[in-house]
Amino acid sequence: MGTRMIRRLALVVSALLLVISVVAQETGGVTLHVVQRGETLFSIAQRYGLTTEVIARANGIINPSNIRAGDRLLIPLNGEVREVEVPETYTVQPADNLQAIATAFGTDVATLVSLNGLDNPNALFVGQVLTLRAPVSAPESPSVPGESEQVPAPSGITVTHRVQGGETLFSIAQRYGVAMTVIQEANGIEDASRIFSGQDLLIPGVQTDNTPVAALPNGLVALDLTPLVLVEGKTGRIRLTTANTATIAIAFLDQTINVATLDDGRAHVGFAPIPLGTAAGVYPMTVTVTDVNGVSTLAFNVQVRAGGYGAQYVTLPPDKLELLTPAVEQNEMDLLRRVTANYSAERYFGGPMGLPAAAAMYSAFGAQRAYNGGALDRYHSGADFAGAPGTPVIAAAAGQVVLADTLNIRGTTVVVDHGWGVYTLYAHLNERYATVGAFVQAGQPLGTIGATGRATGAHLHWEVWVRGTPVDPMQWVAEAFP
Ligand SMILES: [Zn+2]
Repeated sequence: MGTRMIRRLALVVSALLLVISVVAQETGGVTLHVVQRGETLFSIAQRYGLTTEVIARANGIINPSNIRAGDRLLIPLNGEVREVEVPETYTVQPADNLQAIATAFGTDVATLVSLNGLDNPNALFVGQVLTLRAPVSAPESPSVPGESEQVPAPSGITVTHRVQGGETLFSIAQRYGVAMTVIQEANGIEDASRIFSGQDLLIPGVQTDNTPVAALPNGLVALDLTPLVLVEGKTGRIRLTTANTATIAIAFLDQTINVATLDDGRAHVGFAPIPLGTAAGVYPMTVTVTDVNGVSTLAFNVQVRAGGYGAQYVTLPPDKLELLTPAVEQNEMDLLRRVTANYSAERYFGGPMGLPAAAAMYSAFGAQRAYNGGALDRYHSGADFAGAPGTPVIAAAAGQVVLADTLNIRGTTVVVDHGWGVYTLYAHLNERYATVGAFVQAGQPLGTIGATGRATGAHLHWEVWVRGTPVDPMQWVAEAFP
């Protein structure tokens, strides 16, 4: 390569760096505005000191009366549209579809289909990571003096957020993945506790791949699914915010998920227990919102992955073998499903649950089990704690005792209803103090550790049930619900 060639290459590279740095500066000149109920293009334009024509032009709007709550508008802060850096990937959120994603990032459906090798463009699922653009190979670092400084990458966009009832600055910061102090600084907020419902906050530095691009249906302001990919045997959480007082119904995995509505009727929480044995795959979830304006429905796909709980081989003594009879197991499961299917509207739990005994856990939830050389045809529906006979068994959270009885497999058993469809179960007890109907506090003794029922030695078998489905109890100790 000749000297002239190298010089020309250096020129091209420096021109490229200049373009990148201009884009980086200009991304600060655009704001994304989410249209709220009751807003018009005129009121939005007024708010930003712009004309309706400028906003209409920036967003390709032909009829200015044709905007809807939930629409996302680019607001050119200096009266003209600047180019926004397109991220490399985007994580699919509830309510997204391929067309909306393509529009939001200035590409088309065919490109996304080919970049991501999608067989069926309608089978997107929440949490799926899509490649938005073909990777651009970075220019080799030039060996030219003065070109070694790093160009800062654009650090996200600025979003306007209208504070909803029940939100805190912390929850808002978490939702957008930015530091609380960044929001405080951008809005001149000295006391973080002093935000109010209806207040508009500027959220700078939002990474666009975490912001849902598609409009939610009428009446639905926000929908959060935690985690985005659900796990066999674990409890998922769905939080919704509605514009008006509303009731929510959710259908998922052949179950109807009960949704609790909080204070003002606009915040809603539901739990999605994923039964053991649910095959890894993608399943539809349907959310129905009913408010004064009628009924609207949102359907999207959610991924479930395997729990990976492993296998256990258990040997029972001859005198307990009859307890392996399928009918005995089925009867007991049916009874517990019936007891735990009830939904109490009162919530007695809050925050992480306590441990059910001062004892060490030695066998975790979820393992597939084979008894006495048989097939792996059963699941461990709880967690086992080692403890000397007589060790107190205590309530993991406050609630009402709904079962205190001797069962074939679980032996002497107590079930506590914590409200909102959440139950704890304590099995193989020796002594039992709890009686049906009694209210208990967290930490209150319910009985003592024993070896009654299908137990090979003294231990506590502890279960958490969510509306008729046993789930990993240790998740309820590790995480704060609701
Ligand atoms: Zn057990």
